[in-house]
Amino acid sequence: MSSSSSPPRRPLIVGLTGGIGSGKSAAADRFAALGATVVDTDAIAHALTAAGGRAMPAIRNAFGDAMIAADGSLDRAAMRAAAFADPQVRKRLEAILHPMIRDESQRQCELAPSPYVILAVPLLIESGTYRERCDRICVVDCPEALQLERVKARNGLDEAQIRAIMAAQASRDERRAVADDIVDNGGTLDQLHAQVDALHERYVRASALV
Ligand code: ADP
Repeated sequence: MSSSSSPPRRPLIVGLTGGIGSGKSAAADRFAALGATVVDTDAIAHALTAAGGRAMPAIRNAFGDAMIAADGSLDRAAMRAAAFADPQVRKRLEAILHPMIRDESQRQCELAPSPYVILAVPLLIESGTYRERCDRICVVDCPEALQLERVKARNGLDEAQIRAIMAAQASRDERRAVADDIVDNGGTLDQLHAQVDALHERYVRASALV
């Protein structure tokens, strides 16, 4: 029973991660369909750099109009090329975006009305800040051959490009080693959904203990 002296309830924070093409978005969509709040750092980065996004004034100051598309959003292709050519450019962009993404994701987690929050962070394992915020870490896992196949079909990237991205991320073993829960996405979408449904039940139950 709660009393007036009880601290305010906070949602259970479940970090959701996985390599590129592992099925994070597919899993996050299923959690959302079950009623979980999904806080997605990629989506936040996108919103910050959309036309009128909160990061745009700082980006214009740092890089000038060359990085701004006609509609006022970040010119992603120009920024990617500049960051690829000069690592300092990437560092400066990250110095603008990362603190904003951290603050905004924290704010969204605190406002979440659901018993638990899915905090979807592609590089969760690689990032101390986000790991510290999570009560549990859920890793979406599948064989590398499937990652390659799915990303090829989704983005039309070639194998060398996908392998380069995978090489820059934590390895499958590293991710599995820090996981509290592993979703095996080596099968069909229905099989993925069944596992997410079972985790949803567990997280709702666990949230009562936070
Ligand atoms: P991530 O967010 O981890 O990069 P996605 O959830 O976008 O990965 O999945 C990568 C691609 O593979 C998407 O096009 C998605 O629809 C597809 N996909 C994901 N899981 C499965 C599955 N179990 N069976 C078939 N296709 C899948």
